[in-house]
Amino acid sequence: MAGLLDGKSALITGAASGIGRAAALAFAREGAWVAAADRNLDAARSTVAAIEAQGGQAVAIACDVTEDAQVAAMVAAAVDAFGSLDCAFNNAGIAPFQLNSGGVLAGDLEEASWLGLIDVNLHGVWRCLRHEVAQMRKQGGGAIVNTASILGLVGSGGAAAYVASKHAVVGLTKAAAVDHAPENIRINAVCPGYIETPMTEDTMRRRGEQVLARVPMARMGRAEEIAEAVVWMCSDRAGFVTGSCWQVDGGYTAR
Ligand code: NAD
Repeated sequence: MAGLLDGKSALITGAASGIGRAAALAFAREGAWVAAADRNLDAARSTVAAIEAQGGQAVAIACDVTEDAQVAAMVAAAVDAFGSLDCAFNNAGIAPFQLNSGGVLAGDLEEASWLGLIDVNLHGVWRCLRHEVAQMRKQGGGAIVNTASILGLVGSGGAAAYVASKHAVVGLTKAAAVDHAPENIRINAVCPGYIETPMTEDTMRRRGEQVLARVPMARMGRAEEIAEAVVWMCSDRAGFVTGSCWQVDGGYTAR
């Protein structure tokens, strides 16, 4: 049976773990060639090995999205490997606890924690988008999906930098979609709810019951459930979809 992404090339950041890894596997299952990028190259290689084991084609690329030169080189390496860049999933991100900003009130945040988190979650997405657009423009089009979050749509306590970064990713997605629609580049965001990945392990251990009580479906999502939405948004089936920010959250933001 034909895959949704047959003959397309796809670049995924944060592909070493969680949602990015699940997306890399899903893109490959749907027929795409996958460039799996991450700052953790060894773990990105393990994603590539898993893709190859299921009969797909992929390359691993080392990239820290906070370094513009590395982002430029990442896009160039993906194009070198597959000849084009049809789809991009800008997904690399960090949680508040990774930069000492978890549980800190907005007015008490240290500047370094604020800037560090925004640099990965917002500026990292923008750097990727900028280099991807340059390539897609040369080819005559493409599809980009950015990872925002339910916290790009609603607030949450003790996570101001993260919430601000994800709201900004939603804004960037809409603005960029408007800018690049005439160039046949579709740009969307996915807004995951609480998903079972290494990023949420600590939160769920500390206050899992509290979190699940706010989810109408009363469970966490699986990374594969986010990957399904991203694959579809990158596919030609989503030909008229741009500037949308799609909640995949078990109903969290519907309340
Ligand atoms: P994860 O920690 O499992 O994976 C994140 C990946 O990003 C890791 O492989 C890490 O090495 C990579 N990464 C981090 N900083 C990087 C950098 N500077 N350059 C390159 N790679 C970098 O987390 P996840 O849950 O899969 O999160 C993926 C994305 O989904 C993030 O943007 C996160 O904010 C978002 N998100 C996650 C959830 C959730 O519940 N897990 C919910 C909403 C949004």
